[in-house]
Amino acid sequence: MDIVFATGNANKLVEAQRVLGERFHLLMPSDLGYSGEIPETHDTIYENAVEKALFIWNKFQKNCFSDDTGLEVDALGGAPGVNSARYAGEPKSPPDNIRKLLKELEGVPDEKRTARFRCVVALIEDGVLHTFEGICEGHITTSLHGFDGFGYDPVFRPLGMDVTLAEVSIEEKNALSHRGKAMKKLLCHLSANLRQ
Ligand code: IMP
Repeated sequence: MDIVFATGNANKLVEAQRVLGERFHLLMPSDLGYSGEIPETHDTIYENAVEKALFIWNKFQKNCFSDDTGLEVDALGGAPGVNSARYAGEPKSPPDNIRKLLKELEGVPDEKRTARFRCVVALIEDGVLHTFEGICEGHITTSLHGFDGFGYDPVFRPLGMDVTLAEVSIEEKNALSHRGKAMKKLLCHLSANLRQ
C-alpha cells in the first residue's frame, strides 16, 4: 500500500520505513513532483504536524502522514522545543544547532541536563485526521558522540543508556525513540484498517 510521508528528510523516511515494513511503501513529496518546503508555521509540534500533513493532502488528495519533532531541554525551560530545526537561525543547520545547545548548557551539571524528544505523527486517511505521539526521555551530553542518525542525535543519550542515538543502529533507535514509538502507533492503526 502506497502512503506519502510529508517530509523532505531522508533520515526520517528510512526510520519510518523500517517500522512500517514491506506492506507499506513510503513515497516522499518529491516522488510526486513536489520538492519545495513544507510549511511549519505554528507554535506547537502538534499544530505543525497537522499543518504539514494537510499541506500534502490538499496538494495531492493522497493518504499521507507527517512527523514534527522537538527537543525539550529542562534547563532551558523546554527550548528549543518547537524551534528545534531553526534553533541557531536560518538557514537550518544541525551542526550550528548542536553548537548553540552545548553553549547554552555550558556549566550545567549532568543531573540537570535532562531532556526529551517529543514527536507527533499526523495521518490524514481519506480526509480524516489521526495523530500519534511518541516521547523519548534522556539527557544532553557535553560533547558529540557517534556518527549515525541525524539532527541532535550525537548529543542525546536516552534514559538508561550509556550511548547517544548517534551510536546505535536504526533498529535500536526505533526501539526506544520518540519517532519509533509514534510510528508503531501509526502502524497499529494502519494494520487494523487493513484487516477490516
Ligand atoms: P522537524 O521535525 O523536521 O521540524 O525537526 C526539528 C529538529 O529536530 C530538526 O533540527 C531535526 O534535525 C531534529 N530532529 C528531528 N528528529 C530527530 C531525531 O530523531 N533525532 C535528532 N534530531 C531530530
